[in-house]
Amino acid sequence: MTAWGPPDHHDLHEQPPRVLLVDDAPINLQLLASALGRGYELHVARDGAAALDCIRREPDLDLVLLDIHMPGLDGFEVLTWLREEFPERRLPVIFVTAAGDEQAQTDGFALGAVDYIVRPFSLPVVRARVQTHVALKRQTEHLERLAWLDGLTGAANRRSFDQRLAAEWRRALRNRTPLGLVLFDLDHFKAYNDRHGHPGGDDCLRRIAALGQQSIRRPGDLIARYGGEEFALLLPDTDLAGVHGLAERLRRRVETCFACSGGDCNVRGAPGPMTLSAGCASRVPGFNEDPMTLILEADRRLYAAKVAGRNRVVATDDALPAAGGVA
Ligand SMILES: [Mg+2]
Repeated sequence: MTAWGPPDHHDLHEQPPRVLLVDDAPINLQLLASALGRGYELHVARDGAAALDCIRREPDLDLVLLDIHMPGLDGFEVLTWLREEFPERRLPVIFVTAAGDEQAQTDGFALGAVDYIVRPFSLPVVRARVQTHVALKRQTEHLERLAWLDGLTGAANRRSFDQRLAAEWRRALRNRTPLGLVLFDLDHFKAYNDRHGHPGGDDCLRRIAALGQQSIRRPGDLIARYGGEEFALLLPDTDLAGVHGLAERLRRRVETCFACSGGDCNVRGAPGPMTLSAGCASRVPGFNEDPMTLILEADRRLYAAKVAGRNRVVATDDALPAAGGVA
């Protein structure tokens, strides 16, 4: 997986599945461990409280095999706590119990268990069920990650940007810190596409996204594809001077790399020069404002940069053209 897009995207698919076994009887824990065999990272809890501790401590667990009858918290209570404490966490739970009556099983599923295994069980069947649910969980996570990325450039997509903008806006409002934004747009991209064909245009967008990604440094910064050939850089805790400086460095980098016909620049063999225009904004959010204020400000300045001749960064409203200016 690419490292772009929303944070915490480290790929777990090559890691051995992490499974938590919960049972008050050591013999049952041993049986489950032998059912799974090698190839698993096993965690063990002897009661419900210890299970919840382990779930809090290990954010990358893939599956829980959960006994129902235990002293203290029983399995149903553990699952109820788990869903309440981590409503967004995708952690499949399979009940493993001698209580195989229909009511107990339907209760288990109603609480959100993905499966129900009744003792005595067949070791290969337990192993197969665990494999199935781990694979499903990892596949779902993979698809969720893809749903936040722009397929062409690997930058965050618009949906991801909108959500992060709303979250960072709220955070900036709470902390009274500035939230910075750059909107930038490739100059004469249609002509570039006409000249180099759509594969050339696609390649250009990927290169621009890569340069944009290199221009941001902090974990909270985000590059997103905002529209066709328009990108956004979301820069938490950055004042206008900081936003302007970063945008200007990126503008120069793009100009240099695309003008370069080889040598030691990062964008080798780019077909023809490409430049960008950028609008910058930074605000400490007010209580009666919404994030659209920030977008409109940056967009207005991007427009001013286009009107003023392109290949430039605008960070104030001084240079705004009169209404009805050039599109
Ligand atoms: Mg028990």
